[in-house]
Amino acid sequence: MDILHSVNDFNEAKQVIVGGVNSPVRAFGNVGGTPRFIARGEGSYLYDVDGNRYLDFVQSWGPLIFGHVDPQIKQASIEAICNGMSFGAPTELETTLAKEIIALYDGVEKIRLVSSGTEATMSAIRLARAYSGKDDIIKFDGCYHGHSDSLLVSAGSGCATFGSPSSPGVPEDFSKHTLVARYNDISSLRSCFESGSVGCVIIEPIAGNMGLVPADIGFIKALREMCDEFGAVLIFDEVMSGFRASLRGAQSYYDVIPDMVTFGKVIGGGMPLAAFGGKDEIMKLLSPVGSVYQAGTLSGNPVAVSAGLMSVCKLKQDQDLYKRLENLALMLMNGFRLEAQKYGIAMQTCVRGSMFGYFFSPIEVKNFDDAKASDTKIFAKFHQKMLAKGVYLAPSAFEAGFVCATMNEEEIEWAIAKCGEALEEIVYE
Ligand SMILES: *Cc1c(COP(=O)(O)O)cnc(C)c1O
Repeated sequence: MDILHSVNDFNEAKQVIVGGVNSPVRAFGNVGGTPRFIARGEGSYLYDVDGNRYLDFVQSWGPLIFGHVDPQIKQASIEAICNGMSFGAPTELETTLAKEIIALYDGVEKIRLVSSGTEATMSAIRLARAYSGKDDIIKFDGCYHGHSDSLLVSAGSGCATFGSPSSPGVPEDFSKHTLVARYNDISSLRSCFESGSVGCVIIEPIAGNMGLVPADIGFIKALREMCDEFGAVLIFDEVMSGFRASLRGAQSYYDVIPDMVTFGKVIGGGMPLAAFGGKDEIMKLLSPVGSVYQAGTLSGNPVAVSAGLMSVCKLKQDQDLYKRLENLALMLMNGFRLEAQKYGIAMQTCVRGSMFGYFFSPIEVKNFDDAKASDTKIFAKFHQKMLAKGVYLAPSAFEAGFVCATMNEEEIEWAIAKCGEALEEIVYE
Protein backbone atom coordinates (compact mmCIF):
# COMPACT_ATOMS: atom_id res chain seq x y z
CA MET A 1 0.00 0.00 0.00
CA ASP A 2 1.41 3.36 -1.05
CA ILE A 3 0.98 6.03 1.62
CA LEU A 4 3.49 8.60 0.46
CA HIS A 5 1.02 11.47 0.36
CA SER A 6 -0.17 10.74 3.90
CA VAL A 7 3.44 10.63 5.10
CA ASN A 8 4.13 14.00 3.48
CA ASP A 9 0.87 15.51 4.69
CA PHE A 10 1.59 14.37 8.24
CA ASN A 11 5.06 15.92 8.19
CA GLU A 12 3.70 19.17 6.83
CA ALA A 13 0.85 19.24 9.34
CA LYS A 14 3.31 18.75 12.19
CA GLN A 15 4.98 22.05 11.23
CA VAL A 16 1.88 24.04 12.06
CA ILE A 17 -0.52 21.85 14.07
CA VAL A 18 0.57 20.35 17.37
CA GLY A 19 1.43 16.72 16.66
CA GLY A 20 -0.08 17.17 13.19
CA VAL A 21 -3.60 16.46 14.47
CA ASN A 22 -6.49 18.27 16.11
CA SER A 23 -7.38 15.46 18.52
CA PRO A 24 -4.60 13.30 20.00
CA VAL A 25 -5.74 9.74 19.19
CA ARG A 26 -5.68 10.58 15.47
CA ALA A 27 -1.86 10.66 15.60
CA PHE A 28 -1.75 6.82 15.98
CA GLY A 29 0.57 7.19 18.99
CA ASN A 30 -0.79 4.02 20.59
CA VAL A 31 -0.32 1.78 17.59
CA GLY A 32 2.51 3.32 15.57
CA GLY A 33 2.37 3.86 11.84
CA THR A 34 1.30 6.90 9.87
CA PRO A 35 -2.19 8.33 10.27
CA ARG A 36 -3.95 8.37 6.94
CA PHE A 37 -4.97 11.76 5.63
CA ILE A 38 -8.49 11.41 4.36
CA ALA A 39 -9.65 12.78 1.03
CA ARG A 40 -13.27 11.66 1.24
CA GLY A 41 -15.73 9.15 2.57
CA GLU A 42 -18.50 7.24 0.83
CA GLY A 43 -20.93 4.90 2.59
CA SER A 44 -18.89 2.29 4.48
CA TYR A 45 -15.57 3.49 3.04
CA LEU A 46 -12.83 6.02 3.59
CA TYR A 47 -10.46 7.08 0.80
CA ASP A 48 -7.08 8.50 1.73
CA VAL A 49 -5.02 11.06 -0.18
CA ASP A 50 -3.09 8.28 -1.92
CA GLY A 51 -6.32 6.80 -3.25
CA ASN A 52 -6.37 3.79 -0.91
CA ARG A 53 -9.76 2.54 0.19
CA TYR A 54 -10.61 1.39 3.72
CA LEU A 55 -13.65 -0.33 5.17
CA ASP A 56 -14.35 2.14 7.98
CA PHE A 57 -15.20 0.77 11.44
CA VAL A 58 -14.55 4.12 13.13
CA GLN A 59 -17.21 6.21 11.34
CA SER A 60 -15.89 9.47 12.76
CA TRP A 61 -15.80 7.84 16.24
CA GLY A 62 -19.49 7.04 16.19
CA PRO A 63 -21.60 9.84 14.67
CA LEU A 64 -22.00 8.37 11.18
CA ILE A 65 -24.51 5.60 11.86
CA PHE A 66 -25.70 5.95 8.23
CA GLY A 67 -22.17 5.91 6.86
CA HIS A 68 -20.37 8.64 4.96
CA VAL A 69 -22.36 11.17 2.92
CA ASP A 70 -25.81 9.73 3.48
CA PRO A 71 -27.89 11.33 0.69
CA GLN A 72 -30.73 12.53 2.93
CA ILE A 73 -28.47 13.95 5.63
CA LYS A 74 -26.40 15.63 2.95
CA GLN A 75 -29.52 17.12 1.37
CA ALA A 76 -30.89 18.37 4.71
CA SER A 77 -27.56 20.03 5.48
CA ILE A 78 -27.33 21.71 2.07
CA GLU A 79 -30.86 23.05 2.36
CA ALA A 80 -30.07 24.44 5.79
CA ILE A 81 -26.90 26.10 4.50
CA CYS A 82 -28.90 27.82 1.77
CA ASN A 83 -31.08 29.44 4.42
CA GLY A 84 -28.15 30.76 6.41
CA MET A 85 -25.38 29.09 8.37
CA SER A 86 -25.93 30.65 11.78
CA PHE A 87 -28.29 33.19 13.30
CA GLY A 88 -27.58 33.38 17.01
CA ALA A 89 -31.35 33.41 17.37
CA PRO A 90 -33.83 30.56 17.94
CA THR A 91 -35.17 28.40 15.10
CA GLU A 92 -38.10 25.96 14.91
CA LEU A 93 -35.72 23.14 14.06
CA GLU A 94 -34.23 23.20 17.56
CA THR A 95 -37.64 22.63 19.14
CA THR A 96 -38.33 19.75 16.76
CA LEU A 97 -35.07 18.01 17.62
CA ALA A 98 -35.59 18.61 21.35
CA LYS A 99 -39.05 17.01 21.13
CA GLU A 100 -37.69 13.97 19.32
CA ILE A 101 -35.04 13.35 21.97
CA ILE A 102 -37.37 13.98 24.91
CA ALA A 103 -39.92 11.53 23.49
CA LEU A 104 -37.34 8.73 23.46
CA TYR A 105 -35.34 9.23 26.66
CA ASP A 106 -36.95 8.81 30.08
CA GLY A 107 -35.79 11.34 32.64
CA VAL A 108 -35.25 13.98 29.95
CA GLU A 109 -37.99 16.61 30.23
CA LYS A 110 -36.03 19.65 29.09
CA ILE A 111 -32.96 19.93 26.97
CA ARG A 112 -30.26 22.34 25.91
CA LEU A 113 -28.27 21.99 22.71
CA VAL A 114 -24.53 22.61 22.66
CA SER A 115 -21.72 21.95 20.19
CA SER A 116 -19.60 19.17 21.71
CA GLY A 117 -19.86 16.28 24.14
CA THR A 118 -17.30 17.99 26.35
CA GLU A 119 -19.58 20.99 26.69
CA ALA A 120 -22.59 18.80 27.40
CA THR A 121 -20.99 16.89 30.30
CA MET A 122 -19.26 19.97 31.71
CA SER A 123 -22.53 21.89 31.77
CA ALA A 124 -24.51 18.93 33.13
CA ILE A 125 -22.09 18.68 36.05
CA ARG A 126 -22.28 22.39 36.82
CA LEU A 127 -26.04 22.10 36.91
CA ALA A 128 -26.00 18.92 39.02
CA ARG A 129 -23.70 20.57 41.54
CA ALA A 130 -25.94 23.62 41.72
CA TYR A 131 -29.04 21.46 42.14
CA SER A 132 -27.59 19.21 44.84
CA GLY A 133 -25.66 21.98 46.56
CA LYS A 134 -22.67 19.62 46.84
CA ASP A 135 -19.31 19.95 45.11
CA ASP A 136 -17.99 16.38 45.01
CA ILE A 137 -18.70 14.19 42.02
CA ILE A 138 -18.06 10.53 41.28
CA LYS A 139 -16.77 9.26 37.98
CA PHE A 140 -15.54 5.80 37.01
CA ASP A 141 -12.02 4.85 36.07
CA GLY A 142 -11.88 4.26 32.31
CA CYS A 143 -14.99 6.29 31.47
CA TYR A 144 -14.36 9.36 29.33
CA HIS A 145 -16.59 12.39 29.47
CA GLY A 146 -14.66 14.92 27.44
CA HIS A 147 -11.79 17.11 28.61
CA SER A 148 -13.18 19.58 31.13
CA ASP A 149 -11.04 19.98 34.27
CA SER A 150 -13.36 18.17 36.71
CA LEU A 151 -13.51 15.15 34.44
CA LEU A 152 -9.86 14.78 33.45
CA VAL A 153 -9.26 12.83 36.60
CA SER A 154 -8.15 9.25 36.98
CA ALA A 155 -7.95 6.82 39.88
CA GLY A 156 -5.47 7.80 42.57
CA SER A 157 -2.93 5.31 43.83
CA GLY A 158 -3.95 2.24 45.82
CA CYS A 159 -7.43 2.31 47.26
CA ALA A 160 -7.67 6.11 47.54
CA THR A 161 -11.04 7.28 46.28
CA PHE A 162 -9.91 10.83 45.51
CA GLY A 163 -8.74 11.09 41.95
CA SER A 164 -5.59 12.69 40.66
CA PRO A 165 -5.38 14.96 37.62
CA SER A 166 -4.91 12.87 34.49
CA SER A 167 -3.38 15.89 32.78
CA PRO A 168 -0.95 18.60 33.86
CA GLY A 169 -2.77 21.89 34.08
CA VAL A 170 -5.72 20.42 35.98
CA PRO A 171 -5.41 21.87 39.50
CA GLU A 172 -5.33 19.36 42.40
CA ASP A 173 -7.93 21.64 43.94
CA PHE A 174 -10.34 20.61 41.19
CA SER A 175 -9.47 16.94 41.08
CA LYS A 176 -9.95 16.55 44.82
CA HIS A 177 -13.65 17.10 44.19
CA THR A 178 -13.74 14.18 41.75
CA LEU A 179 -13.90 10.75 43.37
CA VAL A 180 -12.98 7.87 41.10
CA ALA A 181 -14.72 4.51 41.52
CA ARG A 182 -14.11 1.19 39.83
CA TYR A 183 -16.55 0.38 37.04
CA ASN A 184 -18.95 -2.48 37.84
CA ASP A 185 -17.77 -2.47 41.47
CA ILE A 186 -20.57 -1.70 43.93
CA SER A 187 -18.36 -1.61 47.03
CA SER A 188 -15.92 0.81 45.43
CA LEU A 189 -18.86 3.04 44.55
CA ARG A 190 -20.14 2.91 48.12
CA SER A 191 -16.78 3.86 49.58
CA CYS A 192 -16.65 6.87 47.26
CA PHE A 193 -20.09 7.94 48.42
CA GLU A 194 -19.02 7.55 52.03
CA SER A 195 -15.79 9.49 51.69
CA GLY A 196 -17.17 12.72 50.26
CA SER A 197 -20.14 14.98 49.95
CA VAL A 198 -21.32 13.70 46.61
CA GLY A 199 -23.66 15.84 44.51
CA CYS A 200 -23.55 13.84 41.32
CA VAL A 201 -22.38 10.66 39.62
CA ILE A 202 -21.55 10.57 35.93
CA ILE A 203 -21.26 7.26 34.12
CA GLU A 204 -21.14 5.82 30.64
CA PRO A 205 -23.74 3.11 31.23
CA ILE A 206 -22.32 1.37 28.19
CA ALA A 207 -18.68 2.38 28.39
CA GLY A 208 -17.08 2.83 25.00
CA ASN A 209 -13.92 4.67 25.96
CA MET A 210 -11.99 1.80 27.56
CA GLY A 211 -12.94 -0.50 24.74
CA LEU A 212 -16.57 -1.59 24.89
CA VAL A 213 -17.41 -2.47 28.49
CA PRO A 214 -21.11 -2.42 29.40
CA ALA A 215 -22.16 -2.00 33.00
CA ASP A 216 -23.84 -4.96 34.70
CA ILE A 217 -27.57 -4.56 35.23
CA GLY A 218 -27.22 -5.10 38.98
CA PHE A 219 -24.52 -2.46 39.12
CA ILE A 220 -26.65 0.18 37.40
CA LYS A 221 -29.56 -0.63 39.72
CA ALA A 222 -27.31 -0.29 42.78
CA LEU A 223 -25.97 2.97 41.39
CA ARG A 224 -29.49 4.39 41.06
CA GLU A 225 -30.33 3.31 44.62
CA MET A 226 -27.16 4.83 46.06
CA CYS A 227 -27.72 8.12 44.26
CA ASP A 228 -31.17 8.28 45.87
CA GLU A 229 -29.81 7.27 49.27
CA PHE A 230 -27.10 9.95 49.21
CA GLY A 231 -29.06 12.65 47.38
CA ALA A 232 -26.87 12.70 44.25
CA VAL A 233 -27.88 13.48 40.68
CA LEU A 234 -27.34 10.52 38.34
CA ILE A 235 -26.03 11.51 34.90
CA PHE A 236 -25.95 8.95 32.10
CA ASP A 237 -23.32 10.07 29.64
CA GLU A 238 -24.79 8.75 26.40
CA VAL A 239 -22.70 10.89 24.08
CA MET A 240 -21.53 7.66 22.47
CA SER A 241 -24.22 5.09 23.34
CA GLY A 242 -27.21 7.36 22.72
CA PHE A 243 -28.90 6.40 19.41
CA ARG A 244 -25.94 3.99 18.87
CA ALA A 245 -26.43 1.06 21.26
CA SER A 246 -30.14 1.36 20.45
CA LEU A 247 -32.61 4.10 19.58
CA ARG A 248 -33.03 4.73 23.30
CA GLY A 249 -29.37 4.17 24.11
CA ALA A 250 -28.66 2.46 27.40
CA GLN A 251 -32.26 2.80 28.49
CA SER A 252 -33.22 -0.17 26.31
CA TYR A 253 -30.76 -2.33 28.25
CA TYR A 254 -31.29 -1.06 31.80
CA ASP A 255 -34.67 -0.40 33.28
CA VAL A 256 -33.25 2.55 35.20
CA ILE A 257 -34.09 6.23 34.76
CA PRO A 258 -31.28 8.73 35.26
CA ASP A 259 -31.80 12.33 36.40
CA MET A 260 -29.84 13.76 33.50
CA VAL A 261 -28.55 12.50 30.15
CA THR A 262 -25.84 13.88 27.86
CA PHE A 263 -25.87 13.33 24.11
CA GLY A 264 -23.51 13.97 21.19
CA LYS A 265 -22.06 12.08 18.23
CA VAL A 266 -25.08 10.49 16.46
CA ILE A 267 -27.45 13.37 17.30
CA GLY A 268 -25.34 15.63 15.07
CA GLY A 269 -25.18 13.26 12.09
CA GLY A 270 -21.51 14.22 11.63
CA MET A 271 -21.88 17.90 12.48
CA PRO A 272 -20.77 19.47 15.78
CA LEU A 273 -23.87 19.03 17.94
CA ALA A 274 -24.45 17.72 21.44
CA ALA A 275 -27.01 18.17 24.19
CA PHE A 276 -27.70 17.75 27.86
CA GLY A 277 -31.11 17.29 29.37
CA GLY A 278 -32.87 16.08 32.47
CA LYS A 279 -35.72 16.45 34.84
CA ASP A 280 -37.42 19.81 34.69
CA GLU A 281 -36.74 20.57 38.36
CA ILE A 282 -33.02 20.34 37.62
CA MET A 283 -33.02 21.95 34.17
CA LYS A 284 -35.02 24.96 35.36
CA LEU A 285 -31.99 26.12 37.34
CA LEU A 286 -30.29 26.83 34.01
CA SER A 287 -30.01 30.38 32.67
CA PRO A 288 -32.13 32.23 31.52
CA VAL A 289 -34.83 30.61 33.74
CA GLY A 290 -32.44 30.00 36.62
CA SER A 291 -29.07 31.35 37.59
CA VAL A 292 -26.67 28.58 36.49
CA TYR A 293 -24.81 30.09 33.56
CA GLN A 294 -24.22 28.32 30.27
CA ALA A 295 -24.21 29.70 26.72
CA GLY A 296 -22.85 29.18 23.21
CA THR A 297 -22.53 31.35 20.08
CA LEU A 298 -23.06 28.36 17.79
CA SER A 299 -25.31 26.31 20.11
CA GLY A 300 -28.21 24.81 18.17
CA ASN A 301 -26.56 25.77 14.90
CA PRO A 302 -29.17 25.32 12.14
CA VAL A 303 -26.95 23.28 9.83
CA ALA A 304 -25.90 20.92 12.61
CA VAL A 305 -29.46 20.61 13.89
CA SER A 306 -30.75 19.85 10.38
CA ALA A 307 -28.21 17.07 9.92
CA GLY A 308 -28.94 15.70 13.39
CA LEU A 309 -32.68 15.89 13.00
CA MET A 310 -32.56 14.03 9.71
CA SER A 311 -30.41 11.30 11.33
CA VAL A 312 -32.76 10.91 14.28
CA CYS A 313 -35.84 10.81 11.99
CA LYS A 314 -34.22 8.18 9.78
CA LEU A 315 -33.35 6.12 12.86
CA LYS A 316 -36.95 6.24 14.05
CA GLN A 317 -38.35 5.29 10.65
CA ASP A 318 -36.24 2.18 10.13
CA GLN A 319 -37.71 -0.32 12.62
CA ASP A 320 -35.20 -3.10 11.90
CA LEU A 321 -32.10 -0.97 11.64
CA TYR A 322 -30.58 -1.65 15.07
CA LYS A 323 -31.26 -5.38 14.79
CA ARG A 324 -29.59 -5.43 11.37
CA LEU A 325 -26.60 -3.44 12.66
CA GLU A 326 -26.31 -5.65 15.72
CA ASN A 327 -26.30 -8.76 13.53
CA LEU A 328 -23.46 -7.32 11.45
CA ALA A 329 -21.51 -6.39 14.59
CA LEU A 330 -22.09 -9.87 16.08
CA MET A 331 -21.01 -11.49 12.84
CA LEU A 332 -17.82 -9.41 12.82
CA MET A 333 -16.98 -10.12 16.45
CA ASN A 334 -17.75 -13.84 16.23
CA GLY A 335 -15.60 -13.97 13.13
CA PHE A 336 -12.69 -12.19 14.83
CA ARG A 337 -12.94 -14.48 17.85
CA LEU A 338 -12.97 -17.66 15.77
CA GLU A 339 -9.96 -16.48 13.77
CA ALA A 340 -8.13 -15.70 17.01
CA GLN A 341 -9.02 -19.14 18.38
CA LYS A 342 -7.62 -20.74 15.26
CA TYR A 343 -4.23 -19.18 16.02
CA GLY A 344 -4.35 -19.81 19.78
CA ILE A 345 -4.82 -16.13 20.59
CA ALA A 346 -7.13 -15.24 23.47
CA MET A 347 -9.77 -12.66 22.55
CA GLN A 348 -12.82 -11.21 24.30
CA THR A 349 -15.55 -9.64 22.24
CA CYS A 350 -18.63 -7.60 23.01
CA VAL A 351 -21.51 -6.08 21.03
CA ARG A 352 -24.19 -3.55 21.96
CA GLY A 353 -26.33 -2.61 18.99
CA SER A 354 -24.09 -1.01 16.38
CA MET A 355 -21.13 -0.80 18.81
CA PHE A 356 -18.52 -3.52 19.09
CA GLY A 357 -15.32 -4.14 21.02
CA TYR A 358 -12.56 -6.72 21.23
CA PHE A 359 -9.69 -7.23 23.65
CA PHE A 360 -6.67 -9.47 23.28
CA SER A 361 -7.26 -10.93 26.72
CA PRO A 362 -7.94 -14.35 28.28
CA ILE A 363 -10.31 -12.83 30.88
CA GLU A 364 -13.65 -11.11 30.53
CA VAL A 365 -13.18 -7.34 30.78
CA LYS A 366 -15.37 -5.72 33.44
CA ASN A 367 -13.41 -2.56 34.31
CA PHE A 368 -10.45 -0.42 33.28
CA ASP A 369 -7.89 -2.55 35.17
CA ASP A 370 -9.00 -5.59 33.17
CA ALA A 371 -8.84 -3.56 29.96
CA LYS A 372 -5.33 -2.33 30.70
CA ALA A 373 -4.23 -5.92 31.37
CA SER A 374 -5.08 -6.87 27.78
CA ASP A 375 -2.27 -7.36 25.27
CA THR A 376 -1.80 -3.92 23.69
CA LYS A 377 1.34 -5.08 21.82
CA ILE A 378 -0.63 -7.59 19.76
CA PHE A 379 -3.32 -4.98 19.35
CA ALA A 380 -0.83 -2.52 17.84
CA LYS A 381 0.48 -5.10 15.38
CA PHE A 382 -3.04 -6.17 14.51
CA HIS A 383 -4.11 -2.59 13.91
CA GLN A 384 -1.19 -1.88 11.58
CA LYS A 385 -1.73 -5.04 9.57
CA MET A 386 -5.47 -4.53 9.24
CA LEU A 387 -4.94 -0.94 8.11
CA ALA A 388 -2.47 -2.05 5.46
CA LYS A 389 -5.10 -4.53 4.24
CA GLY A 390 -7.73 -1.81 3.98
CA VAL A 391 -9.61 -2.30 7.25
CA TYR A 392 -9.85 0.91 9.26
CA LEU A 393 -10.13 0.10 12.99
CA ALA A 394 -9.82 2.51 15.91
CA PRO A 395 -6.11 3.12 16.56
CA SER A 396 -6.29 2.24 20.27
CA ALA A 397 -7.16 -0.88 22.25
CA PHE A 398 -9.37 1.31 24.43
CA GLU A 399 -11.92 2.45 21.87
CA ALA A 400 -15.17 0.96 20.66
CA GLY A 401 -15.79 0.14 17.01
CA PHE A 402 -18.87 0.91 14.93
CA VAL A 403 -20.77 -0.60 12.05
CA CYS A 404 -22.97 1.59 9.86
CA ALA A 405 -26.17 1.20 7.87
CA THR A 406 -24.48 0.90 4.48
CA MET A 407 -22.49 -2.20 5.53
CA ASN A 408 -23.47 -5.68 4.39
CA GLU A 409 -22.54 -9.27 5.17
CA GLU A 410 -20.07 -9.52 2.29
CA GLU A 411 -18.09 -6.60 3.68
CA ILE A 412 -18.08 -8.14 7.15
CA GLU A 413 -16.93 -11.50 5.75
CA TRP A 414 -14.16 -9.73 3.89
CA ALA A 415 -13.03 -7.97 7.09
CA ILE A 416 -13.03 -11.30 8.96
CA ALA A 417 -10.86 -12.84 6.23
CA LYS A 418 -8.43 -9.92 6.60
CA CYS A 419 -8.42 -10.51 10.37
CA GLY A 420 -7.42 -14.14 9.74
CA GLU A 421 -4.58 -13.07 7.45
CA ALA A 422 -3.36 -10.45 9.94
CA LEU A 423 -3.34 -12.89 12.87
CA GLU A 424 -1.61 -15.56 10.83
CA GLU A 425 1.14 -13.09 9.96
CA ILE A 426 1.48 -12.08 13.61
CA VAL A 427 1.74 -15.71 14.79
CA TYR A 428 4.32 -16.76 12.18
CA GLU A 429 6.38 -13.59 12.32
C1 LIG B 1 -16.95 11.43 22.65
C2 LIG B 1 -17.42 11.46 24.08
C3 LIG B 1 -17.45 12.65 24.84
C4 LIG B 1 -16.85 13.93 24.34
O1 LIG B 1 -17.47 14.43 23.22
P1 LIG B 1 -16.69 15.50 22.30
O2 LIG B 1 -17.72 15.89 21.29
O3 LIG B 1 -15.51 14.78 21.75
O4 LIG B 1 -16.28 16.62 23.18
C5 LIG B 1 -18.03 12.61 26.08
N1 LIG B 1 -18.53 11.47 26.59
C6 LIG B 1 -18.52 10.31 25.90
C7 LIG B 1 -19.11 9.09 26.48
C8 LIG B 1 -17.94 10.27 24.62
O5 LIG B 1 -17.88 9.10 23.97
